[in-house]
Amino acid sequence: MDFAYSKAEDLFREELRDWLADHLVGEFRRYLGVGGPTDDSHWEIRREWERLLAADRWLSISWPREYGGRGGTLNEEIISYLEFAEARAPYWVGVQGRDLFGPTLLHFGTDVQKARFLPPITRVEEFWSQGFSEPEAGSDIASLRTRAVLDGGEWVINGQKIWNTFGMFADWIYVLCRTDPGSQRHRGISMLMIDRHQPGVDVRPIRTLAGTHEFCEVFFTDARTPSDFVVGAVHGAWEVMMGTLGQERALTTLPMILGFRYEVEAAIDTARRRGSAGDPVVRQQLARAHTGMEIIRWTNYRMLTSLMRNGRLGPESSVAKLMWAGWHREMGELAMRLEGIQSDLVGVDYELTTTQLTALNARAETIYGGSNEVQRNIVGERALGLPK
Ligand SMILES: Cc1cc2nc3c(=O)[nH]c(=O)nc-3n(C[C@H](O)[C@H](O)[C@H](O)COP(=O)(O)OP(=O)(O)OC[C@H]3O[C@@H](n4cnc5c(N)ncnc54)[C@H](O)[C@@H]3O)c2cc1C
Repeated sequence: MDFAYSKAEDLFREELRDWLADHLVGEFRRYLGVGGPTDDSHWEIRREWERLLAADRWLSISWPREYGGRGGTLNEEIISYLEFAEARAPYWVGVQGRDLFGPTLLHFGTDVQKARFLPPITRVEEFWSQGFSEPEAGSDIASLRTRAVLDGGEWVINGQKIWNTFGMFADWIYVLCRTDPGSQRHRGISMLMIDRHQPGVDVRPIRTLAGTHEFCEVFFTDARTPSDFVVGAVHGAWEVMMGTLGQERALTTLPMILGFRYEVEAAIDTARRRGSAGDPVVRQQLARAHTGMEIIRWTNYRMLTSLMRNGRLGPESSVAKLMWAGWHREMGELAMRLEGIQSDLVGVDYELTTTQLTALNARAETIYGGSNEVQRNIVGERALGLPK
């Protein structure tokens, strides 16, 4: 791992630090560290924060200026994520558009598509959600059944998607559909951009374990989208989708991961407050949590170094995902145990504390972006060269 920044990168970092010192104040300071890639809490204030960042072009750093980006380098983009994490800035809400779909469109989209769809993302005007998973197609996405057929100048889409994060807030959905009716498995699938605000698209929220409605199922009944709203080649979505998932394992979760140390600190404070800090078993658990957090931090830095040097991620992103997701689930359980009886959820309309919210949301992290078992397959097959 080597973060030897150039002079220009150091200047960039200083400028962003100064900006954060000036702007992460007042009302925003009350929301330090809130939100996450699948957590919709404090949505309004986070959107306001995001608009402030966008107005001074502190988001989409490496996107071209013509699309509303800053025209910076990938390294500057990575530095910005590190600085946002350090400052504990509220987590922005446009994660699906900016961190996942946007980079995919930048790589695979046509100039016309980029000019139409990227600027409203950078202006925090249009929101996106991801329509990949189906009730019978999650890890095995190649078995998806949603289909689209051409009718005149439009695709007509029928089917169902599920686990659509932030679907309630989305204006557009990028959807994997089988477009070649005779095709098998990963061939014959296209990624379509579909306007959510039309009669054929029915978005239904699902109440999560944490009591929120950020998750949705989406039903397409003769929904329509223009024939050229396809990302990448028609029938060629597989490569495009891999690009999106690579992003999901890279920077999207970085601010949250680098914020883990605050969770360890909070747990130590809880142990002291509740008088268990002298218990040898608790001490060992806290030491283990701290050590795990540090290993995850360095593993992520190593992954970032490789990204900065080679411009792409290798299987180490799967190793990192495996480590942090498992650690965070255990951390959530430890934090709840340390709170003792106060961590119990009682009744129906309970308000969750930060500890409860974090612990419940962490249950999802070993699933989204590829489950732990699937990450192990990737590490086994692609990094270690083991047989399937
Ligand atoms: C918080 C959250 C947000 C999400 N957001 C989105 C979103 O915005 N858009 C979207 O499209 N999807 C989203 N998902 C869905 C997510 O991608 C799927 O849940 C995930 O791919 C797993 O699929 P599944 O739930 O159908 O489980 P399954 O694929 O049915 O897996 C069930 C179990 O079998 C194991 N398993 C499956 N295949 C293998 C294998 N080959 N080898 C070993 N074990 C295996 C899995 O690890 C798991 O334990 C989200 C999920 C969560 C939890």
